[in-house]
Amino acid sequence: MINDLYHETILDHSKRPRNFQLLEDANRRAEGYNPLCGDKCKVFLKEHDGVIDKVTFQGAGCAISTASASLMTEALKGKTIGEAETLLAKFHDLLTTDQPLPKDLGKLMVFSGVREFPARVKCATLAWHTLRAALRGAGEAVSSE
Ligand code: ZN
Repeated sequence: MINDLYHETILDHSKRPRNFQLLEDANRRAEGYNPLCGDKCKVFLKEHDGVIDKVTFQGAGCAISTASASLMTEALKGKTIGEAETLLAKFHDLLTTDQPLPKDLGKLMVFSGVREFPARVKCATLAWHTLRAALRGAGEAVSSE
């Protein structure tokens, strides 16, 4: 079971997170916290004409939360705000419903094992909750609780 949770891609992204830096010219940003696990995440976006040009994150957390944020930044680059919202909703469904798995989530499918571990769902969704706050311009800290 644990192998399903810690997929090799998750381990890779938790050890070498992509886009893990402050984005100086970000025009949207938000901060999130998952009190259940202690994960912290800041998301930075550079959005232009409704398209996400750059997205980075910073923070400290468990392997699941770090890998999720890292894979999220890769998945979002070049997406429109609308596409990002759609992806966010699908990712949430992947983790929180017992519906058949969606087929169009690419690398994000490695998190499908997390739905068997309800306590870890908030780790995996933290970066995405934070993204939503950044997209909607709510500058306040969010919690995935
Ligand atoms: Zn965590």
